[in-house]
Amino acid sequence: MIDLVIIGGSAASCSAAIYATRRQLNFRMITQNIGGEVALSGVVNNWPGIIDIQGFELADQFAKHVRSYGVKIEEGWYVENIVPTKNYQVVVAKNPAGKVEKLQTKAVIIGTGIHPKKLSVPSEERLDHKGVTSCTVCDGPLYKGKVTVTVGSGNSALESALMLAEIAKPAYIISKFPDTPETQGGFPKGEKILIDKLKAHKNIKIIYAAKTLEITGDKKVEGIKYQDAIGVHTLAVDGVMVHVGAIPNSGFAGPVAKNKQGEIFVDTKCHTTVPGIFAAGDVTDIPHKQIVIAAGQGVIAALEAIGYINTWMP
Ligand SMILES: Cc1cc2nc3c(=O)[nH]c(=O)nc-3n(C[C@H](O)[C@H](O)[C@H](O)COP(=O)(O)OP(=O)(O)OC[C@H]3O[C@@H](n4cnc5c(N)ncnc54)[C@H](O)[C@@H]3O)c2cc1C
Repeated sequence: MIDLVIIGGSAASCSAAIYATRRQLNFRMITQNIGGEVALSGVVNNWPGIIDIQGFELADQFAKHVRSYGVKIEEGWYVENIVPTKNYQVVVAKNPAGKVEKLQTKAVIIGTGIHPKKLSVPSEERLDHKGVTSCTVCDGPLYKGKVTVTVGSGNSALESALMLAEIAKPAYIISKFPDTPETQGGFPKGEKILIDKLKAHKNIKIIYAAKTLEITGDKKVEGIKYQDAIGVHTLAVDGVMVHVGAIPNSGFAGPVAKNKQGEIFVDTKCHTTVPGIFAAGDVTDIPHKQIVIAAGQGVIAALEAIGYINTWMP
C-alpha cells in the first residue's frame, strides 16, 4: 500500500508531484507521456515569469523540476481503471511492457487532461500547427491582419471568433446549423450574450448550415472547403481554428461522477465524488483550460490528498 498515485505527466500532475515529494509522501507518478497538451501548445506566452517559451520546453522544465527531487516519472503507463476498494483505491494500469499492474494506494490524483475533437477532414492532420489549431487563445495572435475561420458553434467557437475579430481581416465562423430561432440563430449551445456580440461585430462573417469538407494548402493552410445548400465553396484563409469540442481523458475513471462531456466533477478543493480520488486540470469540469490553472489545481489536489492521507486509517 502506497500513499498516492499521480496519473499524468504534465502541468497538473507535475505540480502535484512537487508538493507530494516535498511532503515526503510515498507515491508513484505514472503517465502515458511527459508534457501532454502543454508539449503540443506551440509558443506559450502566459506562464508567469517566462515571457516566451515553447510548450515542449516548458513541459520539459516541469519534468526536470519533479526529477530534481529524485522522483521517477514512470512514462509509457496507460491507466485503464480505478477500483475503489474498502478505504483504498486500486489503480489498474498497463506498464510500458504491456503488462497489467494493480497499484494499491490510499489516494489518487487524476491529471490526465483532454484531447481536442478533430473535424476529421482531409489535410487537417497534415496542416496541424501549419495554420490549423485547436487553441485560439494561444495561437490567435499569430493571425494579426490575416484571414481566419473558426469552425464550431459552441461557446469556445464563439469566443474564438470574437477574439479573432479584433485582429484578423476578417474573422469567419462556420456553423453547421441554420440561422433560425430554433437554433438560437445558428448557435444552439452558445450563450446569448456571445451570440449577440458575434452577430453585431462588423469584422465577423458567419457562414451558416455548412459542413466542412477539407482544409487546403501545401506547406501551410491556404483555404477551407465547405458545402452548404447552394453547393461546394472554397474560402481562402490563413488560419483554421477548430473548436468542435474536446474529449476528456477520463474514460478509465469509472467510479467518479462526470458531466455529459466526460469532465470529472470537482469541488473547489479538487475532491471528486469518491473519497480519496482527487482530480486537477483540463480533465475536470473547470471551465477554463489553461496551463497555469491546471498547475494551480494540481497543487490544491496535492494539498488535499496530503490532508486525506494524514487522517487515513487502515
Ligand atoms: C494547441 C494548444 C495550444 C495551447 N496553448 C496554450 C497556451 O499558450 N497557454 C495555456 O495556458 N494553455 C494552452 N493550452 C492549454 C493547455 O495545454 C492545457 O490547459 C494544459 O495542457 C492542461 O494541463 P493538464 O496537466 O491538465 O493536462 P495535459 O497537459 O493534457 O496532460 C495530461 C497528461 O495525462 C497523461 N494521460 C492521459 N491519459 C492517461 C492515461 N489513461 N493513463 C496515463 N496517463 C494519461 C498524458 O500523457 C499527459 O501527460 C493549449 C492547448 C492546445 C491544445
